[in-house]
Amino acid sequence: MRLPKLRELKEAVTVLLSPRFTTKFPAEPCQVPENYRGKPEFDDDYCIGCGACVNVCPTEALTQTDDLESSPPKRKIISRYDTCIFCGNCQDGCTTEKGIKLTNQWDLATLDRQETIATHEYELQLCEKCGAIVGTKKHLLWLNKKLGPLAYTNPSLLLSHDAQMQELNQAPPTQSSEEPKDVTANDFMKILCPKCKCELNIQL
Ligand code: SF4
Ligand code: SF4
Repeated sequence: MRLPKLRELKEAVTVLLSPRFTTKFPAEPCQVPENYRGKPEFDDDYCIGCGACVNVCPTEALTQTDDLESSPPKRKIISRYDTCIFCGNCQDGCTTEKGIKLTNQWDLATLDRQETIATHEYELQLCEKCGAIVGTKKHLLWLNKKLGPLAYTNPSLLLSHDAQMQELNQAPPTQSSEEPKDVTANDFMKILCPKCKCELNIQL
């Protein structure tokens, strides 16, 4: 039998007398480093439902559907961390920079995949002329606040912010029989999608 060398014996005794390197989890909570990339979580105070994070998610852990049939029309962003690779693209590409954050939650094992799925809903603003999606109402309000006085150059932003007009916006877009289908100068003070806005600008 090969006898241990003195160096190996010394190492063994040193390790036995040293503090442990592994954690005591699950007996004690495991502390992760400050910048650990764990479960992504939305912050409803800062998320405006723009969908930028969905576009940059490489694994479709974030998906988006726009439901125009519901009343009011809604956007749903569905997050599921069982297919998340914790790359951080969503956090890095977030429009408001605070809408989604990777937390330090790492103990995510579950027997029920439904527990990994969360749905976030946002009310949509539709074009008052053609009914196309302009964006979420939260997004328009955020843009209005961010632009400050510059928002006065865009009636759609102003109207979405104005409380009195917001009540009017609650109604679904309608096209009365008397109202011309084409965009006219009378539509200037309406919330318009980019296409209708472009048509209006050509006429003015
Ligand atoms: S961390 Fe990466 S994979 Fe996970 S939700 Fe964000 S973008 Fe998608
Ligand atoms: S990019 Fe940010 S603000 Fe936009 S939907 Fe994603 S988390 Fe919300």
